Amino acid sequence: MSRRVVLICGPPGAGKTTYAHTLGLKVYDVDDPHWTGEAEYRAAIAALANTPTAQAAVIRSGATATARHKAVQLCGATETIVLAVDPSTCADRVITRDRHHHHRELAAITAWWSKYSSDQSEATQPAQPAPRRTKTPRTHRSTSLRDRHRAAIKRTGAACHLCGEPIDYKLDHKNPRSFVADHVIPLDHHGPDTLANKAAAHRACNAAKGARLIAPIVRRSGTLD
Ligand SMILES: [Zn+2]
Repeated sequence: MSRRVVLICGPPGAGKTTYAHTLGLKVYDVDDPHWTGEAEYRAAIAALANTPTAQAAVIRSGATATARHKAVQLCGATETIVLAVDPSTCADRVITRDRHHHHRELAAITAWWSKYSSDQSEATQPAQPAPRRTKTPRTHRSTSLRDRHRAAIKRTGAACHLCGEPIDYKLDHKNPRSFVADHVIPLDHHGPDTLANKAAAHRACNAAKGARLIAPIVRRSGTLD
């Protein structure tokens, strides 16, 4: 089996741990109580860089391209996945997880999105607007779940999670570069029809993906030859 170390980044509540567990790899999460702290965790993921048989998913915040690059170097990641989940979804999840002690995590979500930067290969893109935390207006209550999910993803201004290229959200739906909400884990693979399981994609990339099970790889990097 070839070495595989997947770096998974995103704000609190993005679903990094849940996603990591779907990969069938050993999950390294600093929040796991068996680590005594950041130092021990860092040492463990640094050891992965020198393990030729490593099969691991490493969870980091990685809001900036620089932070992700450092993490790639540290653990020798073969792939990087950024779960750029919109802040309102993240906030709903952290509040559900802990009704009383979520304030730090909410602050961390805001901080993540304010620092978020894409990597060098995406550097020519126009800056993505910082998504605002907006409540769905009451007038939208009658719209379908699908439309609400589309709107929520659109608000993030996210790049295509399949090819990493920006999306012009104004393009007509007949345009192959136009926006579609892609099921990350396809419905055919029992992926849920939830916002958490949807990500922005180009119509053409979505069509090429079909119902194959593929990860939202924003960027592959750090391959050690
Ligand atoms: Zn694409």
